[in-house]
Order: sequence, then structure tokens, then C-alpha cells
Amino acid sequence: MKVGVIGLGNMGAGMALSAARAGLSVVGHDPATTSASALREAGVMLVDTIAELSAHADAIVLSLPTSDIVEKVVLGPGGVLENARPGQIVLDTSTADPASTLRISKALDGSLLRFVDGPVSGGPKAAHAGSMTMLLGGEPTDIETLAPLLDALTGKRVHVGPVSAGHSAKLFNNLLCGINLIAVGEAIRVAKASGLDIEQILDGVNAGSGRSGVTEVNCPTWILNGAFNSGFTMKLMRKDLRLAAEMLEKAGAQTPLSNEALRIWADSAAVLADDEDFNRIVDYKESEQ
Ligand code: NAD
Repeated sequence: MKVGVIGLGNMGAGMALSAARAGLSVVGHDPATTSASALREAGVMLVDTIAELSAHADAIVLSLPTSDIVEKVVLGPGGVLENARPGQIVLDTSTADPASTLRISKALDGSLLRFVDGPVSGGPKAAHAGSMTMLLGGEPTDIETLAPLLDALTGKRVHVGPVSAGHSAKLFNNLLCGINLIAVGEAIRVAKASGLDIEQILDGVNAGSGRSGVTEVNCPTWILNGAFNSGFTMKLMRKDLRLAAEMLEKAGAQTPLSNEALRIWADSAAVLADDEDFNRIVDYKESEQ
């Protein structure tokens, strides 16, 4: 399988390297990548235009910052649709707005292009290791066709429904993680104020039904040891939570707890800078503003 990767930043460069390491032929396009020499050394061919990339690729991976950019890259002038060849599949690994993903998928109806959304987690480390977790939205046959590429990029993948369901599931995941981080931050403060050993308390929690990814992974890896070096920034988390807020608003269901957590995350921008680790929200106290 020949692969094209558009967007060679922290995640996309790692994916291109993982695909090349797995023996796939890889072409990349990103006018502002900082990984050009590492990519060339690994045999990734860098090209200046989407037309050149498209001429080479059976599957086109997108790893882009926002849905606006994804729409422009796929549907805009000189973009993927304009240069499409029969049977090509676009795999959008960006964390994106599900409504935008549906718009793209409708615009591609009847075209030569297939579209699958596959947002990822695990951060740049997992992208480089080819061990990301991917939530897939799309037709089962398209996902089967992508198998050699998905094998190279992922350690775990879950097919969660039709096109855009992957992007929705990713927003639910990050919303629940965001709510949990605030709740665990409160538990840590209460334990400390009560003179309890938080590590021992969390050992207990992790043996029970209050456990979560935050208590089992984030706490020991990045929070309790003060490392705060997960590689996932406040800026990216706030982007994901803004998208989650839009998803909740469109749904119109009652979500008082989510709304309050989203407000706390938004307000925290006054004291927690965009380049801070997202786990820092556990230290955020509203009274300090
Ligand atoms: P990044 O900013 O490091 O990389 C984005 C890259 O896209 C940049 O190199 C930029 O030059 C390039 N780009 C922008 N517009 C372009 C265009 N029109 N054509 C070609 N390239 C273009 O971001 P990242 O951390 O790699 O994240 C990429 C996506 O993955 C985002 O949607 C992010 O939310 C998601 N994500 C990131 C992480 C993480 O830990 N960093 C984890 C999971 C998901």
C-alpha cells in the first residue's frame, strides 16, 4: 500500500515514520514541518503539493490542527478531491468536529474518494512507536482496505460506527477525561488536607469502581510525580473541549455536570497557559484567579 501523509507535525511525522518502518511506501506534504531531515532519512519522500502526493498514494492520512484546515485540504482548490484517483481512501486522524466530517463526507458522495475518520490517542510517543489507539468511523470495507496502514500505526483500534462516529467518540472520551481530571484534582486536595497518603488512597480507588484512566495512568505517570510531561498540551485539550461543547449544544440534551466542567476548563485559561501540560488542571483552583 502506498501512503500519503498531509500534516507532518508532532503526530503526523511519527505516523509517516511508523508507516515507512513497516515497509509501506510513504510520501509526505507539510510546508512547515520541522521533521524534514528525519523523514527523508527514513525514506519518506516530501512533496510540495497535494497533486504530487495524490499521484503516489492509495491511502491519504490527514493529521491537521483544525476542521477548517481539513475541509480546505480535502475540498478546497488544489486539494485532495480535485486530485482524486479511483479507490483512494482518506483517513482523517485529526481530532475534528463531527459536523464538519459529515459535511465533507456528503460533499464526497458520488466522487472517487472514500473517507474514514480515525482520531487517535497516545500522543507523539505512540505515533512514533506505531502503537496509537484509533477510533474508527466509516464503512467496514474501507476499514478492511486500510488494514496494512492501520497495522503500522496502531496498537489498538475500535470501529465505533459510520463516518463521523470516530470523531464523536473521541470528543466523548476527551470530555470524560476532562471531567475526571477535575474530580481527581479535588480528591487529591481533599486527601492532602485530611493528612492522607494520596498514593495509598489511589491504590484503594484503583481496586474499586471509582478508578479511571486518570487514576490508573495519568496520576502515576504525570501528576503525582510532578512530571507533567505527557506531550498533550492545554491548547489541544481546550480545542477538543470546545468541540465537545459544540457537540453538547447541538444535541440539546441536559448536561449540567459537563457544562460546569467545560466552564472550569475555559476559565482556567486565565492562569494555565496554552503550552502547559493538560494534566495541570488538577492544580487549578478558582479562588486563585
Ligand atoms: P502539530 O501542530 O504539531 O502539527 C500539525 C501540522 O499540520 C503542522 O506541522 C502544520 O504545519 C501542518 N499543517 C497545517 N496546515 C497544513 C496544510 N494546509 N497542509 C499541510 N500541512 C499543514 O499538531 P499535532 O500535535 O501533530 O496534532 C495533529 C492533530 O492530531 C490535531 O488535530 C490534534 O488535536 C490531534 N492529536 C494530537 C495529539 C498530541 O498529543 N499532540 C494526540 C491526539 C490527537
